[in-house]
Amino acid sequence: MHRTLRLGYTATVFLIFSSGLAQAAEPIPVPKPLAVPGQKVSGDTVSTPLPKPKHEQLPDEAASVAVEAASCDLSGVDFESIPPVRGEFSGDAGCGIETPVRITGIERESASVALKGSVTISCEFAKTFTQWLQSDVLPAAEKHFNGGIKSIATGPGYQCRRRNNQPDGKLSEHALGKAVDISGFSMLEGASVSVETDWGKDTPQGRFLEDIHKSACARFTTVLSPEGDEFHKSHLHVDIGCHGKTCTYLICQ
Ligand SMILES: [Zn+2]
Repeated sequence: MHRTLRLGYTATVFLIFSSGLAQAAEPIPVPKPLAVPGQKVSGDTVSTPLPKPKHEQLPDEAASVAVEAASCDLSGVDFESIPPVRGEFSGDAGCGIETPVRITGIERESASVALKGSVTISCEFAKTFTQWLQSDVLPAAEKHFNGGIKSIATGPGYQCRRRNNQPDGKLSEHALGKAVDISGFSMLEGASVSVETDWGKDTPQGRFLEDIHKSACARFTTVLSPEGDEFHKSHLHVDIGCHGKTCTYLICQ
């Protein structure tokens, strides 16, 4: 009797203990930290280049966007699709590109033209920009110079900033990856073209710039040259921003 009671007590203690153990051994599942590099994408931003996407390592969201970015159809262009770019500044959450591409060069027939550094822009804008280079800018260079273009000096394309870096300005098209600045060209024959010093001159350089300015106005919604304003003395700005209610208003300066 005594022993039985003790056994019962022991059993009860054991049951309580083991039930405690059971609870301890079955904790609320702690979510494992997702050890995926892409998880940083939403928090980190990205003035610095992101690594090339590896689909199997990216979380669903980033992977789906990466697939979308990878579908950018650019022919004759040296480029890579990169993960979405996001940036914010002083309360503005509008910066970023959903389907960015990083372009390093343009091919045309047997010619290969480098973009000094590289240009990060949206896939949509890249189509217009590279078609303009291939169909208008390279032929214009061949017309005014013996041989084509060796390299093009550009800005970075994407920049999370306001127009003309003015503190109260609207968001720049650069902040959406829809704009590029071009400051000059190096020609295969050795000549160089500077927007700042050659603009408006009656020289091959000046006439070349006049030609590409004209063709740019037929393709982009905004073209700003040294004639435009004080902010564009040193470069040609082209973008596909929307002007007016129906986005049909064009700016060619
Ligand atoms: Zn610009």
